[in-house]
Amino acid sequence: MSRRDLLLYLRDLGVEEVLLAEKQRVAPPGDPLACPDLDTMAQALASCQRCRLWKGRTQVVFGVGNPRARVVFVGEAPGAEEDRQGEPFVGRAGQLLNAMLRACGLSRQEVYIANVVKCRPPGNRDPEDDEAASCLPFLRRQLALIGPEVVVLLGRVAARHLLGITAPISSYRGRFRRWEGMDVLPTFHPAYLLRNPQAKRESWEDLKLLRRRLATSAGEAQGSGPGGVV
Ligand code: URA
Repeated sequence: MSRRDLLLYLRDLGVEEVLLAEKQRVAPPGDPLACPDLDTMAQALASCQRCRLWKGRTQVVFGVGNPRARVVFVGEAPGAEEDRQGEPFVGRAGQLLNAMLRACGLSRQEVYIANVVKCRPPGNRDPEDDEAASCLPFLRRQLALIGPEVVVLLGRVAARHLLGITAPISSYRGRFRRWEGMDVLPTFHPAYLLRNPQAKRESWEDLKLLRRRLATSAGEAQGSGPGGVV
């Protein structure tokens, strides 16, 4: 029934006055999940208040890097320095991540780096399940827009929230698995490596695996078949 027909019908029933809702004058802010690219998505998320973490943050730490990256690295949450600078992995763990990237022949500019949650949890605690659940759709959308060949999960928190694995990361790191149509490689978090330098040897094995995977797919793309070397 059209609005006019409804009003005529109400008048016939004897209704003399109808209160109409005021028309919304301000367009709702853009839905981050409907944004066509990472930049507009970052803008749409900048004032996000979907979970309690907004109360303590300086800014949303959206992600950084190449929007067409072949590899995306996913950490857990911004720390104090990331919250201050608005960029993931810029503190001590970030410096180690940069060194790990260099060891793989990769630069920060050519990969993409993001976190499970985009706002700093107070006191650097682990993100709560509900905080991760409200932020994960945005990470999924970032991954869909980037379309990487490999997603590297840095540490148990990222692996727990994306893969649902609660076992110690040492029991499943260093093996590729499929997740939502992508190849995912769980490995140690750089902050863990800073605290446990003896794990760097295994971390290096994981990075070599990543390097081989990227070389193989680059070789296939150039028609030389698998087995290329970076
Ligand atoms: N640790 C993370 O997991 N992410 C960051 O951005 C920084 C430290």
